[in-house]
Amino acid sequence: MSSANQQPVIIVGGGPVGLVTAIAMQQQGLPVKVLEAKKQGASHQDKRALALSFGSRNILEKLGVWAAIEAKATAINTIHVSQRGSMGRTKLEAEEHDLPALGYVVAYGTLMQALDGAIDAKNIIDQAPVSAVRQDLGQAEVDFTSADELTSLVSPLVIIAEGGRSLANVPGLQRDAKAYGHDALVSKVSCERSHDHIAYERFTQTGPMALLPNGKRDFSLVWTGEQSSIDHLLTLDDATFLTELHTAFGDRVGRFLSVQKRLSFPLLKSQLTSNNTPHVVVIGNSAQTMHPVAGQGFNVGLRDADALVGQLATSMPAEWGSQAMLEAYAATRKRDTKGGLLFTDFLVNTFSNDVIGLSGLRSTGLGLLDVFQPAKNFLVNKMSYGK
Ligand SMILES: Cc1cc2nc3c(=O)[nH]c(=O)nc-3n(C[C@H](O)[C@H](O)[C@H](O)COP(=O)(O)OP(=O)(O)OC[C@H]3O[C@@H](n4cnc5c(N)ncnc54)[C@H](O)[C@@H]3O)c2cc1C
Repeated sequence: MSSANQQPVIIVGGGPVGLVTAIAMQQQGLPVKVLEAKKQGASHQDKRALALSFGSRNILEKLGVWAAIEAKATAINTIHVSQRGSMGRTKLEAEEHDLPALGYVVAYGTLMQALDGAIDAKNIIDQAPVSAVRQDLGQAEVDFTSADELTSLVSPLVIIAEGGRSLANVPGLQRDAKAYGHDALVSKVSCERSHDHIAYERFTQTGPMALLPNGKRDFSLVWTGEQSSIDHLLTLDDATFLTELHTAFGDRVGRFLSVQKRLSFPLLKSQLTSNNTPHVVVIGNSAQTMHPVAGQGFNVGLRDADALVGQLATSMPAEWGSQAMLEAYAATRKRDTKGGLLFTDFLVNTFSNDVIGLSGLRSTGLGLLDVFQPAKNFLVNKMSYGK
């Protein structure tokens, strides 16, 4: 059967990962239908700052959407890693790795606007929340509501990319989820010195924090810590908050001058424990979530999308959704996903605790890393391409 008369692959969730998958399929002439709960355009004002790796930029470039994003993205040319209370520090520089940038900071809404502009209207149904996914006689079936009517569609393959917060009891979707016990506070801050395209990653005894260059002068702040301490930071007036930030972050960017609205969300680590059900595959945040310390989670999700479309494009349509095809896909993703989770856990556990004696080692570690080029190459490859 040619792909032209094949039932379309259904994607549940038209967030960034679902849409990247759909646009890549569309580009290859593969039949696809996205079911998205929200109205298209509803997230275009979402200012959440995503850190895109250089590898993610390559994926977006391949889809022809990077040009629309680039003008509103802020390049990260240097990553500066330090630890509160120690002299050790290391710097990763794009130039040293022959890259035009180590990554980019982009608002979720900017990315969504570019992706919504690229998806063919016939390939997406918006305001169509999916309520159930099940397997049925060699295919999968999806129930969704559209214009107040409950409708069902069948497909050889249902790709679940709904972010991990709405569907339960789906075949193949068994997750091992644990709370890190930490929350992340996110906001935008301005400070005395210009950012010079440097992203700062700082480990403190209570949790890691990051300042990501965003726009001409501002930084996006991600400050993680125990829920009670993040709750406390949310209650402070702006001036006191900025003083606390200065104390925790140090003097590298001068005094902090202003802070925008502060929001927080709980940090979860979750991964699939079983994903061997034919006709259903889970990708993006729905498949794994990790601590934001190394900016890995979202980029791992885009690589899921890229690899899955590669698998579909090189399989016969009759094989779509088969156990063999999905196992082949899972094999290509295992190392990246596991590596991302382990790498993230390593950073959180090693650099953000107050075990006596570790501090000196960490300081030495960061100092050594600064002069040990193979280790820096490993870090840049891991963060850029998941390798
Ligand atoms: C509150 C919050 C704040 C965050 N802040 C940051 C941040 O500051 N920086 C950062 O790098 N990362 C942040 N993240 C993580 C980041 O948003 C994710 O890595 C990224 O959005 C994952 O993309 P995705 O496409 O897999 O999922 P999502 O972006 O969650 O997209 C899922 C899509 O599926 C749709 N959907 C959900 N359920 C259904 C359903 N049943 N039927 C149909 N459609 C459905 C949703 O409407 C949505 O459009 C944050 C996450 C959360 C939850």
